Amino acid sequence: MRFEISKVLDAIEGRVCTDPSLARAVVDLAEVIRWQNLDGGRPASLLRLGMVIDALSRQIGEDSVPVYAIVHRALLSDADLTSNERMVVRRWADDGLVEVLDQPGDRMLEVADLLGLPVLTRARLDGLVGRYPWLGQAGRVLAPVPGAGGPVFIAHVGGGQDPATGSRSPAGVKLLSRQWRCPEPGCALFGGGGGGGAFADLAAVDRAPAEQPPPTLRTGAPTCPRHGARLSDAGPRPRTEVLAVRIGGLVRKRFALTETEPVPVGRAPEGPGAVTLGQWLNDEARRWISRSHIRLELRVGEVVVTDTSTNGSGVRPGGSMAENERIALAPQQSRVLAEGDLIELYPGVQVGRAAKMSSDATYTPNSVMAEAPTMAMRLPRQ
Ligand SMILES: [Zn+2]
Repeated sequence: MRFEISKVLDAIEGRVCTDPSLARAVVDLAEVIRWQNLDGGRPASLLRLGMVIDALSRQIGEDSVPVYAIVHRALLSDADLTSNERMVVRRWADDGLVEVLDQPGDRMLEVADLLGLPVLTRARLDGLVGRYPWLGQAGRVLAPVPGAGGPVFIAHVGGGQDPATGSRSPAGVKLLSRQWRCPEPGCALFGGGGGGGAFADLAAVDRAPAEQPPPTLRTGAPTCPRHGARLSDAGPRPRTEVLAVRIGGLVRKRFALTETEPVPVGRAPEGPGAVTLGQWLNDEARRWISRSHIRLELRVGEVVVTDTSTNGSGVRPGGSMAENERIALAPQQSRVLAEGDLIELYPGVQVGRAAKMSSDATYTPNSVMAEAPTMAMRLPRQ
């Protein structure tokens, strides 16, 4: 059972990130783990984060939906968590997957403000509407509460269930147009540090600049939320285009394409940032789709697809499913993708800009809790 819980925590690990282009909602981990009535279990449990992520996934109708978690430093030594859970949170902190703060304050709201994301919290935030006017908009703040098949959301304003996304605040747009460097050596959020010239910095950076979280603003200056240190400007941030994979009508995964690194997509491609589809394909699709089927690149703002397959692929202009409009892409052929174009690797297996793509059927997304022992999944009777 211990082993199974580890597998669930691994699955949850794939759904926490501080990447501003991929995170879909903001949570305060110290709050989430204590929502005891979600499962009637221990006073604190990290599995509740998985339950909330699943609920978000169901509500958005997409698989692999990551959340941006703010973590109070005290959580790393919280005796109500198991030692395994504490170890997992520490690993997330070391890898920069979550933000660990001594004084979280209203960082959760700042991140939501800068990125335009919804907040999942039970806290009443009415008093802060003056500072963050979007708190008064429907669907921007949702309380996860127990429901029949797992947690469900109730919007603080409007009473609906759907998370609403806003646009990045002007400060967010400005902060996210640059990359930042923390003077603290080994900073997991704004890696590099220590000085020593450009090359020394490059060696220490283990985080792609495009994935850097938004700095916090202290008296107007970009500051590392973890170390409280002033950040230095390390140049323009690489452009990012968020793409999505849709299989059988369900958006399975979003991924970021930057100018620094091409992204291979296929049955089982290799390389950093590669998008693996194998686990979602049936036997026929698996036989048709090459290990590395297409390569995507972002060149001066244009998404370029190159077929690297044995069998070729196709482009659906504007997402049209009319057969006579499909443009065949032969092996080794390249094409610039227009705004709404979809690349089709195999019928029903598509890649395109995330903003232009939604799940078009009622599918049940895969649960991060699939491996969870039934005990942890026990839900309160309704
Ligand atoms: Zn730092």
